[in-house]
Amino acid sequence: MARSYIEPARGWHCIYNPTPFMSAQMKMALCCIALLSVAVAANSAQQPASARTVVYEGARLIIGDGSAPIDDGVFVVQNGRFTAVGRRGSTTAPAGAQHVSMSGKTVMPAMVNVHAHLGYEGYTSWGAAHYTDRNVLDHLQREAFYGTAVVQSVGSSPTEASIQFQRDQQAGKFPPAARFLFAPGFAPPNGGPDAVLRVATSALGAINEVSTPEQARAAVRRMALGRIKHVKLWFDDRGGTYPKLTPEVTRAIIDEAHLHGMIVHAHAIALADQKFVVSAGADVLVHMVQRERLDDEYLALLKQKRPYWATVIGLGDPTEVCNRDPFFEQALPPPVVTKIRATTERRPLEPSCGPPAPTAAAREQTMAENFPRMIAAGARIVLGTDTGVHPGHTFGSGEHVELARWVQLGLSPMDAIAAATSRPAELMGLSDLGTVAVGKRASFIVLDANPLENIRNTRRISAVYLDGAPFDRDAMVATWRKPTTAPR
Ligand SMILES: [Zn+2]
Repeated sequence: MARSYIEPARGWHCIYNPTPFMSAQMKMALCCIALLSVAVAANSAQQPASARTVVYEGARLIIGDGSAPIDDGVFVVQNGRFTAVGRRGSTTAPAGAQHVSMSGKTVMPAMVNVHAHLGYEGYTSWGAAHYTDRNVLDHLQREAFYGTAVVQSVGSSPTEASIQFQRDQQAGKFPPAARFLFAPGFAPPNGGPDAVLRVATSALGAINEVSTPEQARAAVRRMALGRIKHVKLWFDDRGGTYPKLTPEVTRAIIDEAHLHGMIVHAHAIALADQKFVVSAGADVLVHMVQRERLDDEYLALLKQKRPYWATVIGLGDPTEVCNRDPFFEQALPPPVVTKIRATTERRPLEPSCGPPAPTAAAREQTMAENFPRMIAAGARIVLGTDTGVHPGHTFGSGEHVELARWVQLGLSPMDAIAAATSRPAELMGLSDLGTVAVGKRASFIVLDANPLENIRNTRRISAVYLDGAPFDRDAMVATWRKPTTAPR
């Protein structure tokens, strides 16, 4: 697929080419002016869809909201939207419509991933130098390839460039891909992301560094003026090695965000830290407590607050690339696969194929205890993968790992699918996505096998449709395999 028509990003100067003598405040003021000038509507149109009417018949339909599947279903797609959904025979096909048999297939909504880190993975190397429109688009295409319709880049994407990217994507300037959303991040100076991501985000000035409640409130207000709806904060000292947001600054971010109707995602991995951010009103918990048992005080708090919860478990798991499953290799350049297989030493976040870490069994035991208790207490699980936080992870396939992990830990396949589709759509305010239902965008996955019988059947992808149009998965694979256009 040709990519040469992709325009270079405009208006990135205050992030990419700052005048050396310009103060940080001046740069922020310029960014703020740019923010003021745009309005980003998360659910506006992305791609033109075919106007023809198509009737798809015979598939098992998984609606995505947890309701019972329709075993011999029919749905009609017109202008990129579902205009009828039901049992076969329940709807009259519009005159002149094209009919497509989907007997033996299962259809589920395309997924919504609320937590990833786009732009830095280059597959030959990794870092800020890769952060371009073209590379963000490449990652979004990989997500679409694996059945994801929307991805939120959380905390690590530069604000102004991201707003511009959203505008360009909504204007139809890019080829089909997952829809890009982003949430600006907040951390204390030199805090926030892990050491690898931190280098990249620092180079782009992608994180709002705040030390006082006043700075925090002012920064959140700037985001509100830019009509940003989601923000992220890190509340973590990484084992005493990092500065951590103070409770006062954390409360200021959350309170100010809520004043403006914004949603706050909070990274916290220790029990005490999760307790604090939930009690302070964080709307979305990111990560799972994996080293401590949850206590009754926390469970009572969860019952009261019912936060959304992006578990992002899979990133800490051994990579599926080691299992020689072609599903995970198709979007990875062969040298990356070779390197992962040759890596036997375990390092945090780095994909490798060595023996389990000495701590793996204990982690597994704690997760097996904590996961069902979080769910029972009312944490509203949503799909997030953390893909892109570290080199060597594939965009899009991580979603399928996360789904299988949830089911392994006790969630039903039906609930897992709802947590990957309708619930994250609800969280992200995407009223046009997340279920196979009349009026929604016809973004769906066609599977060769039933994931309600085995959740790993979400990997048996026959086709992916975005806004009623088939996403050309074969063309993607061909592009990724061409040496001259190999992923950067
Ligand atoms: Zn993350």
